[in-house]
Amino acid sequence: MSEVAAKSPITPARRIHTALPGPKARALIERDAAVVSPSYPRDYPFVMSHGRGAEVWDVDGNRFLDFAAGIAVCSTGHAHPEIVAAIKGAADRFLHISSDYWHEAQVALAEKIAALAPMREPVMSFFCQSGTEAVEAALKLARYVTGRSRFIGFLGGFHGRTMGSLAFTSSKYTQQQGFFPTMPGVTHVPYPNRYRPLFAGADQGQAVLDTSRTCLFACNVPSSEVAAVLVEPVQGEGGYLVPPDGFLAGLRALCDRHGILLIADEVQSGVGRTGKMFACEHWGVAPDIMTLAKGLGSGMPIGVTVAKRRIMEKWKRGAHGNTYGGNPLCCAAALKTLELVEGGYVANAEKVGAYFIERLRELQQRQPAIGDVRGKGLMIGIELVDPVTHAPARQLCDAVITRAFHNGLLLLSCGTSTVRFMPPLMISTSDVDDAMTLLEVALREAQAQ
Ligand code: PLP
Repeated sequence: MSEVAAKSPITPARRIHTALPGPKARALIERDAAVVSPSYPRDYPFVMSHGRGAEVWDVDGNRFLDFAAGIAVCSTGHAHPEIVAAIKGAADRFLHISSDYWHEAQVALAEKIAALAPMREPVMSFFCQSGTEAVEAALKLARYVTGRSRFIGFLGGFHGRTMGSLAFTSSKYTQQQGFFPTMPGVTHVPYPNRYRPLFAGADQGQAVLDTSRTCLFACNVPSSEVAAVLVEPVQGEGGYLVPPDGFLAGLRALCDRHGILLIADEVQSGVGRTGKMFACEHWGVAPDIMTLAKGLGSGMPIGVTVAKRRIMEKWKRGAHGNTYGGNPLCCAAALKTLELVEGGYVANAEKVGAYFIERLRELQQRQPAIGDVRGKGLMIGIELVDPVTHAPARQLCDAVITRAFHNGLLLLSCGTSTVRFMPPLMISTSDVDDAMTLLEVALREAQAQ
């Protein structure tokens, strides 16, 4: 028995017992192809039947370890019984009333968010259904209160796919192609990348903030016209990039110097994902506005724009609104999610995440194709590279994701060639061991292709 196999009893064969996709999955995918938009970026044919905790089953009875969690959404695991009970309890009372009225769960959720928010002063919340809507609301609020119309975003950023948020999104060419013009007035600057430094011999964070190097305010963007900087505290779709210490604080200082609002997009990094409730807390930085979605609802569609009260209270009646914001089922799920995350999963994400990174660094010693291991908590990426040139190994990355699926491990990629790990926050170290076994097999198989 090999050293790897000895660590875990799991072998691919015990999880997967049909060819993939199996017959039922294949039939469903064929029906889907005729009637569902082909725009979804689906990487492999997983057809869900049901899930429990960190495991999911497909319609043919194959079992997978889910380290993608519905793109970092199923924070408490699949079908957590307390979340399901909270949703059922809310559904028994009413399904919808609209944001024109009041109800207990919405107020309670806003109060809970106000107690947890990193702003260090009173905040207010605006509720919607998704990350992109939370970003749209943040942009509208920033324009409304500052009377300024320009924005700064980051290359590699992902903030959604509606015309405002899409103007910032720049992690993949295909997200932009065919949609110009999006919202005008957005200027992109580089996001600090310690593995692939853009500024030779410099602290990447400080170099990005050095406006004489980026030529930002001096050449083309009058700082007095900039409403806000929109930033992911840990860049997600762009490659799971953790900025150097000092970057976010420097950004905060730059914004303060020019009267610019700082919007932290915590849609992916928030709600315990990085081992703190919000990623910007790693650096003690208080944004003016913060966006949440994904992990907040444990799978229920909810987005929130959280802003300092002195900013959001400037919105006049009717300035912004929607039909479904504050849906009672979503609010019930979010309240229970925050209770579970605060009550233990955030600490678990920190502890198990540190163990996971350690195991990945061990694997890196044996696998020169792993150029970089990075992340915080359970927001972790490995960048796959050509071992000689260190060029991004995109094909290898795609092959690893595919082989992992065939062996029973759900993963997604990000950046050019980064495999990302964003499992439910309740996973154990033994789940990590299982994932490591499956990953190592996938890597070896992908390299042999
Ligand atoms: N912001 C960030 C940081 C994200 O990662 C995403 C989605 O991946 C979004 C915004 C958009 O969220 P949604 O897909 O819910 O619109």
